[in-house]
Amino acid sequence: MVAKGDMVYAWSTDADILAKGECGGAVTTLLKYALESGMVDAVFAVKRGQDIYDAVPTLITDPAEVIEAAGSLHTGTLLLSKLFKKWLNGAKDMRIAVPLKGCDVMGMYELAKRQQINLDNVIMIGLNCGGTVSPVTARKMIKEKFEIDPDNVVKEEIDKGQFIVITKDGEHKGIKMDDLEDEGYGRRANCRRCKMKIPRQADLACGNWGVIGEKAGKATFVEVCSEKGANLLSGAVKAGAIATEAPIEKALEIRGKTENAMLKLGDKWRARDFASLGEGSDRLKKIMEDTSRCIKCYQCIENCPICYCVECSTKKPYLVEPGKVPPPFMFHLIRFAHISDSCINCGQCQELCAMDIPNALFMHALQVELEKMFGFKPGVNMDLPVLALVEEPTERERLAATGSDQIFNIFQS
Ligand code: FAD
Ligand code: SF4
Ligand code: SF4
Ligand code: SF4
Ligand code: SF4
Repeated sequence: MVAKGDMVYAWSTDADILAKGECGGAVTTLLKYALESGMVDAVFAVKRGQDIYDAVPTLITDPAEVIEAAGSLHTGTLLLSKLFKKWLNGAKDMRIAVPLKGCDVMGMYELAKRQQINLDNVIMIGLNCGGTVSPVTARKMIKEKFEIDPDNVVKEEIDKGQFIVITKDGEHKGIKMDDLEDEGYGRRANCRRCKMKIPRQADLACGNWGVIGEKAGKATFVEVCSEKGANLLSGAVKAGAIATEAPIEKALEIRGKTENAMLKLGDKWRARDFASLGEGSDRLKKIMEDTSRCIKCYQCIENCPICYCVECSTKKPYLVEPGKVPPPFMFHLIRFAHISDSCINCGQCQELCAMDIPNALFMHALQVELEKMFGFKPGVNMDLPVLALVEEPTERERLAATGSDQIFNIFQS
């Protein structure tokens, strides 16, 4: 039996899943067990499509098919939480088990507190995440830096700070991620700034950091983060589907050091990226200049996990004059006002922007400032964002009585 707070090495007892899984197949086995045992009605996972650059989100109801999604795709940059809302009715009428990266889990919480996802119906299997590379950058990087035809690559890995590719002919080639990133390749910019490395707000947090010795690469380090996670893992162990072992002290130390090093790296990239925006009116000028390329394609809104409204204010003619490209700056101001306190830095609004506008950088920079002011940290629990705590009638009364538009005394020392 495992309990909340436990940490174990886990791996699959099924030879096929053990072989196909990224690090011993524990996650695939847990998903399969959840489906077989009736704990959930479906599994939502990410399958490899045409090639390694094609990550396909898939709803699976047949336990025999769960194995098809085994393995990690670092060149797949999906955000599963928004798809939960769009495709799966927010798990309101179906129980679903799902593997989720840090940003996916954060998005689940932000949508849940906006009543767009029912977390009671979801088993969240968190995946540690060092970062993902956009498919376009991955192809370019493999061609230009690895000097390999991207179509010949059958597997990619990120291990010990290296991006490693394996070709059809069995050739392995690795280059240090730091070197690739210094030259403008490597992980997405938001991933470099990300500090949600081990998603402990999920039911289980699974990854390879801290798996050492003969189990390295063949087992996953699982942190049990909730009762729900403990029940799933205990059930799978009891059914003989998963084998576990206690990690040695040294493994915990190495895992802690790796996580800390990744958090420091995130801070380094934040400092670098935010400094590139300048301060105050310079920053505003830069944002206005960059967003003047906007063609109002709405991809930033469509894919943002914080944007959930049926009637979007950016479509109200009295707020944003219709038929104008680029749209008036108010289009972007509305998003900054509605979202910036809750932005989870998932990168979708940047990656999918038709005009390559660094929207996620602008929004993340604002979120970090707002977090310093108000202490609200998005995506980690069910706490409501700052704006949700303001009641409109009370606020109107206060404005009328005091004439002040300052909701919070942000200049208090
Ligand atoms: P498997 O049994 O192989 O199952 C993996 C599951 O991950 C599958 O269900 C699959 O659907 C899902 N999946 C694959 N790609 C994605 C994706 N892009 N988004 C969401 N789900 C996906 N662990 C670390 O300790 N350090 C890291 O830096 C790290 N980085 C990672 C980066 C990414 C993008 C991913 C997906 C995982 C990362 N992991 C990391 C976790 C690690 O690679 C393994 O997923 C984990 O150890 C579980 O191994 P397993 O054999 O049990 O998983
Ligand atoms: Fe992973 Fe963070 Fe990038 Fe999400 S934003 S893919 S959790 S590194
Ligand atoms: Fe993600 Fe952009 Fe929305 Fe922030 S604003 S949560 S980076 S899509
Ligand atoms: Fe809702 Fe504002 Fe996003 Fe529009 S921009 S969907 S109104 S949060
Ligand atoms: Fe404008 Fe880019 Fe948003 Fe499209 S995705 S509306 S181009 S900012």
